[in-house]
This record gives sequence, structure tokens and C-alpha cells, in this order.
Amino acid sequence: MCRLLLIGAGHASAELLRRWAAAPPPDVELTLVTPDTLAPYSGMVPGWLAGAYAWEQCCIDFARLAERARARLVADRVVALDAARREVALAGGGTVGADVMVLNIGSTVRLPQARDGGPVVLPTRPLGALRAAVDALGAASRQRARAVELVGVGGGAAGIETLLALRRRLLRAGAEPRCTLLSRDTEVLRGFGPRARRLACDALARAAVELRGGFDVQRIGPHGLGARDGRSQPADLVLWAGGAAAHAWLGGSGLALDAAGFVRIDTTLRSLSHPWLFAVGDCAAWHAPLPKAGVYSVRMGPVLAHNVAAALAGRALRAYRPQRDQLVLLNTADGAAIASRGRVAAAGRWAMRWKDSIDRAFIARYR
Ligand SMILES: Cc1cc2nc3c(=O)[nH]c(=O)nc-3n(C[C@H](O)[C@H](O)[C@H](O)COP(=O)(O)OP(=O)(O)OC[C@H]3O[C@@H](n4cnc5c(N)ncnc54)[C@H](O)[C@@H]3O)c2cc1C
Repeated sequence: MCRLLLIGAGHASAELLRRWAAAPPPDVELTLVTPDTLAPYSGMVPGWLAGAYAWEQCCIDFARLAERARARLVADRVVALDAARREVALAGGGTVGADVMVLNIGSTVRLPQARDGGPVVLPTRPLGALRAAVDALGAASRQRARAVELVGVGGGAAGIETLLALRRRLLRAGAEPRCTLLSRDTEVLRGFGPRARRLACDALARAAVELRGGFDVQRIGPHGLGARDGRSQPADLVLWAGGAAAHAWLGGSGLALDAAGFVRIDTTLRSLSHPWLFAVGDCAAWHAPLPKAGVYSVRMGPVLAHNVAAALAGRALRAYRPQRDQLVLLNTADGAAIASRGRVAAAGRWAMRWKDSIDRAFIARYR
């Protein structure tokens, strides 16, 4: 019997479990370790934040998926991986060993040191942490003044979507948010075409969001945020979408990592240093850097499912080929969305209806 350990309820893991439920490979003992049995689908999270969906509507039920794939579910968090011993340590105590492992643990954020009594900071990654922070905010905001200085950090797609969504949520709750978006780059949506960037700026302007470019946040102080160049920004609430960071515990694993701490993989999604370990999605470093976006994890899913089964059976592995460009649908929390692919972009309510149907269809695959 071969032991396969799946770590993290990421998008690629969902596809592996779905396929294995239909045709489980023989003589494999499958274990899934994840702290969240209801795992959020990132595409719908801004919609949840804006109040358009219930949390459960945006989630894949991994307890159900694991049961159907005849996998043992361990509801815990990995805190260390020892590649030499092929085992992981769990937050709740104990270790789990394996012959083959899959890492699909997503990414996190690195926050500057915050002082007590400063603004409330909501990290956008991991998505489960965002939900917990927003729920805690709901309780705290009942005592909060109506006028709120809301500051988003990060001018990428997730930063723009979550800021517009949280603004909508606060408006619905009767607050009066004054919104600012801080971006380290001078422009928003780096890597997108000029038309998509203009449409995003239009959406921010319609929501009266002030954009401060070239603002590289270094400090979170008692009254707000401080930039490297000495500028400051008052804040009551900070939504942190300042880019994806690697989980710190990977640093002690012995796996080959890139400079940012993500697991280096080959074209078949295996670790460069330890080929019995597969890494997919945000936690993996492809030789040419890929955007940290869920669509890559989704597309890695079928290749992962095939390659893990092939590795266990001693068959040939397939190469993953990343898509050249991707359709991005950005929810602007006003009933509309921006659709962008390559240099082409357009916006409207039709784009939001399109996004909603794609996202619901994705979730439905795993029900
Ligand atoms: C607000 C927001 C909106 C976004 N919208 C989009 C979008 O529309 N389209 C898009 O393509 N991308 C989007 N992204 C990016 C997207 O969220 C990520 O790229 C994607 O979720 C990565 O998928 P993954 O499969 O690598 O891991 P995730 O989906 O992040 O899943 C990781 C899993 O691992 C688990 N895990 C983490 N640590 C441990 C541990 N130590 N032990 C065990 N389990 C662990 C987590 O609980 C989670 O279940 C968005 C990001 C944000 C922040």
C-alpha cells in the first residue's frame, strides 16, 4: 500500500479528489490535511465581501470530496515539513509520513510590524484569514464611528476588487467610508493592458476612491500607514492585498525554493530537489514566474491528478503548459465587472453576469 499525502484544500487538490472519486487508483492510502474543510473559491470572495453571496456558496466542501475519494481527512495545519524524513508535523501535534506528497497550500501575506492601538488590518490571504478578520470586524464595527478611513494596500486585481467590495459592505452597514488605494507602482493593474487599467481607474473614481501611486508602505503606526519616502496615510481600517508571500515554514523543509521561498518545480509539477513531492498553485515556483492566480492552480489540477497516479504506478508523466494569457473578470462591486484578456478589455453589467455564471459553474463541478 502506497501512502499519498495531500496538503491543503487548494484548487488543484479539488480536481485531484474529484477525479479520484470517479476512479480511485488501487492500493493507495490517501490522506488530506487541511485546516479548512470548506475551502473558498477566490473568484467569488469579492462577491461574498460585497454581500452578494453567502460564504458557503463560494466554498468547495472538501469533507464531502474527501469522503467520495475515500480519503482520510485530517482537519489540521501543517507547521513543518521534513523532506529528508518525508513527513510533516501538525499544529495539533503528531506527524504524518508519506511516500508521495502534494503541496497545494496557497500563499500568505507579509505585513509590516503593527503597533497596538493602530488601524485594524485585514489580510486578504489566506482567504480563510480574510473571512475571520471580516467577521471580527462585524462585531467591532457596531461600536465604531460611522465615518471610516478605509485604506487598501495593493493596486493589483485582488486589491482593487476587495477594496471596492469592502466599501460596498460598509455602505450597506450604514458606515461612511472614505477610501484610498495605495499602490507601490505608479499605476494600478501591472501586467494588464492600458484599457483595463483605465477601466479600473474609472471604477475607482466612480466609488470616490483616491489613488496614491508610488506609495511603498513600510510602517503601520498608531494613526495609519507610513511610506518608505516619508509620506503618511491616515487609516482606521487597512485591507492588505500587498502581494503573495510564501508560507514561512517551507524555509526549513529542505526543499529547493526560489528567492521568495516558493517551491521550485519542473514541468511535470514535481519538486526540483525531491521528485516524490508535487507542488501546485501559488506555493509553487515555475521556472518562468507565473502570476499568483487561481486559474493557474485550476489548470494544473488535471495534470496533477494524472501525474500523481502515473508516479504511483510507475508510468510516464505529462508536462503542464501554462496558458499564454488568461481571461480576467474583475468584480467592481457596483453590479458590473471588467473583462480583460491580453490588451482587450471592456466593462459592464453583462461582464458581471458572465463572471457569475462561470464562477457558479466552477463551484457546481465539486458539488
Ligand atoms: C481577494 C482575492 C481575490 C482573488 N480573485 C481571483 C480571481 O478572480 N481569479 C484568480 O485566478 N485568482 C484570484 N485570486 C488569487 C487566488 O486566490 C490564488 O491565486 C489561489 O487561491 C491560489 O490557489 P491555490 O490552489 O494555490 O491555493 P488556495 O486556493 O489558496 O488554497 C490553499 C489551501 O491550503 C490550505 N493551507 C494553507 N496553509 C496550510 C497548512 N499549513 N497546512 C495545511 N493546509 C494549509 C488553506 O487552508 C487552503 O485550503 C484572488 C486572490 C484574492 C486575495
